[in-house]
Parts: sequence; structure tokens; C-alpha cells
Amino acid sequence: MKNLSFQRKFLSTLMGGLFLATTSLVHSQEYPTRPVSIVVPFSAGGPTDAVARLLAVPMTKFLGQTVLVENTVGAGGTIASNRVAKSPKDGYMVLFHHIGISTAPALYSKLPYDTLNDFEYIGQVVNAPMTLIGRKNLPANNFKELLAYIQTNKDKVTLANAGPGAVSQLCGMLFTSQVGVALTQVPYKGTGPAITDILGGQVDLLCDQTTNTLTYIRSDKVKLYGVTTTQRLSSLPEVPTLNEQGLKGFQVVAWHGMYVSKGTPQPVLDKLNAALKNALNDPDVRSRLKDLNVEIAKPEDVTPASLKHQVESEVKKWAPIIKASGAYVE
Ligand code: ASP
Repeated sequence: MKNLSFQRKFLSTLMGGLFLATTSLVHSQEYPTRPVSIVVPFSAGGPTDAVARLLAVPMTKFLGQTVLVENTVGAGGTIASNRVAKSPKDGYMVLFHHIGISTAPALYSKLPYDTLNDFEYIGQVVNAPMTLIGRKNLPANNFKELLAYIQTNKDKVTLANAGPGAVSQLCGMLFTSQVGVALTQVPYKGTGPAITDILGGQVDLLCDQTTNTLTYIRSDKVKLYGVTTTQRLSSLPEVPTLNEQGLKGFQVVAWHGMYVSKGTPQPVLDKLNAALKNALNDPDVRSRLKDLNVEIAKPEDVTPASLKHQVESEVKKWAPIIKASGAYVE
């Protein structure tokens, strides 16, 4: 008798489990049935935001549901990463982040999420080169003059960034350590507000993605001192790299990826990957990004395996560099 009731209980638990698994499979195959959010870790009007908004248009068409962009700003992108890491495992909240996801573990003494274990990877997205720009009325007209200006105005010169963990901060950190001068850093919640202050002359320098800076460089609203890639940029062939101008080995490229929370079902991951691939093949997206000198990830890199590998190797690469620099957020 006792045995019979145990068997009944066991069977009903088994059936319940099977029912739940089947329902979640059916749901994940129907995905998406409501709007999907792309969470951007920086303010609206910045380069990460700009690329996300560009991708949201073809992704909306492909998924048949509105893809919205939400800006969850602060703490160099870690608030957004944590939000997505803790979100339901259903694919309705997608993180669009850059290289900062891999520098944060070395920069922050405590992170409320586990970078390597709390996400599912969708794929790499774009690689954006960066530029060192200054306010228009900065007296230095080229890199050589900038170095001299920095030496004589050490205590005055300010360098904007989008917070500890932002790629602009990383670039600024490499710049100041190679130049050997600790400039005053001015943190913002994204490039949007940082550029506003460069344009207004409230802050002196910023190292940021071409996605945003190119427009102001082309319209002569800012000064340009160099590019952060090892090769000159096709859109600015006359502008020397920082490496060429004496900062040996200087290279920062803002690579970007898409993530969802760990445990999101495979059919949802596959659909998001297909939507991303489709968006990166969209002719409007391609021509817009080309115009901004932003490189689209190679098809073989728009994959979960490639992004996973990228994050893991970049976490390893930046940890000792950041440690040596002393940049650390308690
Ligand atoms: N470019 C920024 C950074 O420095 C963030 C942004 O996209 O606004 O990380």
C-alpha cells in the first residue's frame, strides 16, 4: 500500500516535470511573443547606444516583435551586466556590451555577477576603433604639441571617460601610463554626456569610438590627436596612429558582443543569433557602420563560441595590465 502511494507520487512528479519541460520548449519555440529589450550599459547618444539602435530596426523585422533599447547606466557598465545576468532565462532581455565586460572583473574588487558563468553568448557584433580627441579651443594642434601642453599643464588637463570599466577609461589609462602623467579623470555615464562637455569646452580630452567622434571630427568641432589602432583608418588616412607617434604598441579596439542570462533555452539563443546575423547583413546597417569606420564582426565570429572565447581571453589579457596600473574600484 505504502509502495503504491510512493509510485503514484513519483509518477505525478515525473509528469509534472515533463509538462513543465514541454511547456517551456513550446514557449521557447514560439519566442518572441512580446517586445525584446536590448540593454545598453551607457547613456543614450553614445557609441554603444548608437549601434544598438541601428541593430534594433532589422532585429524587430526579423523577430516580428519590437526590439527596444534600454539604457541602464552607471558603474562602467556593471549595473547593466548585473541586471541582465539576474533577468529571467527567457531571452527578453539582451545585453549589448563592449570590451568593458572583460575588464570589469579586474577593475572591481566585488562584482555582483560572475562574468564567465552568468551569461549565454549570442555572438560578436562590431569592432570600433577609437580616437584621441580634444576640445576645439585646446591650444595644442597636434600630438607633439599635446604632449608638451600636458607636461606644462599637468595639474590642469582633464580627461573624460564613461566610468570605471568603460573603454574610454581603459584607453585613457593606457594613454596616461605611457605618457607618464596622471591626468585628472572626469567620469561620465557614457560618451553622450562626455562629448557634450568636450563640445562645450568643460573638459579637455576624450579617447572614444569613431562611432561618435567621427561626426565631430569631420565637422571640425573637436581636435584630433591620433587613432588607437595599429593601422591608420581608411576614413582618416592622413591621421597617424598613437603607436606611430611614439606610444609604442598602443592599441585599443572596442569589440562588442550580445549576451543573455545563463540557462536561456537553446531555441531562443538560436533565434537571437539568427536575428543578429540578419541585422549585420542589412544593407543600411552595413553602410552606416562603414561610414563610421566601425568594422562588422566576421561571420565566423558572430557565434556563441567565438564570443565566449573572446571574453575568456580578454579577461585573462587585461587582468595583469589593470593590476599593474593600480586602477581598482573598491
Ligand atoms: N564609449 C563609451 C565607453 O567609453 C561608452 C558609450 O558607449 O557611451 O565605454
